[in-house]
Amino acid sequence: MKDNQLLRYSRHILLPEIDYAGQEKLLKSHCLVIGAGGLGSPVSIYLASSGIGKITICDFDDVDISNLQRQILHNDESVGKNKAVSARKFLQRVNPEINIYPIEKKLNTTEMKKLANNADVIIDCSDNFETRYALNRIAFNLKKPLVSGAAIKYDGQISVFDFRKNDSPCYECLFPDSEFEEELRCADHGVFSPLVGIIGCTQAAEAIKIILDIGSSLIGRLLLLDSKDMTWKTIKIIKDKDCKICSIK
Ligand SMILES: [Zn+2]
Repeated sequence: MKDNQLLRYSRHILLPEIDYAGQEKLLKSHCLVIGAGGLGSPVSIYLASSGIGKITICDFDDVDISNLQRQILHNDESVGKNKAVSARKFLQRVNPEINIYPIEKKLNTTEMKKLANNADVIIDCSDNFETRYALNRIAFNLKKPLVSGAAIKYDGQISVFDFRKNDSPCYECLFPDSEFEEELRCADHGVFSPLVGIIGCTQAAEAIKIILDIGSSLIGRLLLLDSKDMTWKTIKIIKDKDCKICSIK
């Protein structure tokens, strides 16, 4: 690390669990962020400021004025522009020393798998079940850690599925595909702006902890937030021995 980097990351380096070696590790790491919206904004901003050396951020959508209430990567000037491109502009200003790779197109499974294969951690900041199930399958097949988050109305949830560990449950253990619930979308139901910030920051914290192997991750736990009453609940996630994804040897 150069002198200016030692200064930039000094408050991390002061933490004994991170120290110089941990910060070096962050600088050499690669996070894949799927979605540059409400969750992807705080996730990628904290990853960038923390010095994650390489961030790939994917979003095929363009910025709409109705996004600006909570998608803090974007501003008035970004309206009509691709979200991943707009994200890079913001993130590069937060930390010019890291590499940001925006992916502007809608990815098929093969393309997503290729990107995921190069990442240390996959962070699901998507807003639909199709992507969540696809990322779960990909992360399981590649044995990569997946940090999952979701937020709608006043309710949010976070969990970690770490497929480097054989006993990790997966997203489908929690929400079997057969029980496909009606998809709630922010466009139809609304979402409380700071909620996506809280959930996204928690996802960023989990991703950084996974890279550094600090403390206990949310593996096997689903954290649920009711931001209206500001109450958190933890639900234990049991690995489903009949799960059609992770029970396959
Ligand atoms: Zn499973």
